[in-house]
Amino acid sequence: MPELPEVETTRLGLLPRLQGRALRHIVVRNPRLRWPVPHDLEAQLAGLTLKGLDRRGKYLLFDFGRTTQIVHLGMSGSLRFAEPGEPAALHDHVDWLFDGGITLRLRDPRRFGAVLATDDVTQHPLLAHLGPEPLTPAFDAAYLHARCRRRNTSIKQLIMDAQVVVGVGNIYASESLFHAGIRPATAARRLTRAACTRLVAAIKQVLAAAIAAGGSSLRDYVHSSGELGYFQLQTRVYDREGQPCKVCATPIRRIVQGQRASFYCPACQR
Ligand SMILES: [Zn+2]
Repeated sequence: MPELPEVETTRLGLLPRLQGRALRHIVVRNPRLRWPVPHDLEAQLAGLTLKGLDRRGKYLLFDFGRTTQIVHLGMSGSLRFAEPGEPAALHDHVDWLFDGGITLRLRDPRRFGAVLATDDVTQHPLLAHLGPEPLTPAFDAAYLHARCRRRNTSIKQLIMDAQVVVGVGNIYASESLFHAGIRPATAARRLTRAACTRLVAAIKQVLAAAIAAGGSSLRDYVHSSGELGYFQLQTRVYDREGQPCKVCATPIRRIVQGQRASFYCPACQR
């Protein structure tokens, strides 16, 4: 599943080739994504120039001035540039044809992604209630500590709640809690301010490292027609049940929280 670092890498890969270009045409081969692609999407956007490409959580926001196109990659989506004349494959559901012969193509085999448009991005129901971006100063220890107060939910589930902070997916939550030395099942209300300081720093570090790793694959991504692969992370705990902790050699444990697998080291995380 594309997580925040993949979405940010996608944004960085698309922006230089698309910014300032006019959109000429949209081809929707299959509108049945998580929500239907608006039938008038092309009527809303064709002829407009892309002013910028922003990201909020895992939503890509294509700024066409009066209208913003929202794209979410869902469980299996990817965006890339198609070669001139390259035929669409089975799961290539949407093409955007820009000036200069540039074709942006959405592939989404499982169709949990979304392509929507809005005239007021701040009030859109998918975006209006999102928490702060994890890599901005708004996400700090004081903020997280305040959100932890009186919450009986586990800290892992809390940091995966997009209303608390966006973009901390399952892998990054487990990895960040390892780096912070906090067990995933700890009740949020039990976290001290010091623990919140460690956790905020760990989340920022883990996400920034993943984005940096994605940046190293950016060149291939932009200059070839190959699909952007999801990042292969060097994880400390995620998906390592029974294997020795890379710090202390204690076997990594796996538990299930909210139907999602969590991994931790019982010695390093107390
Ligand atoms: Zn350990």
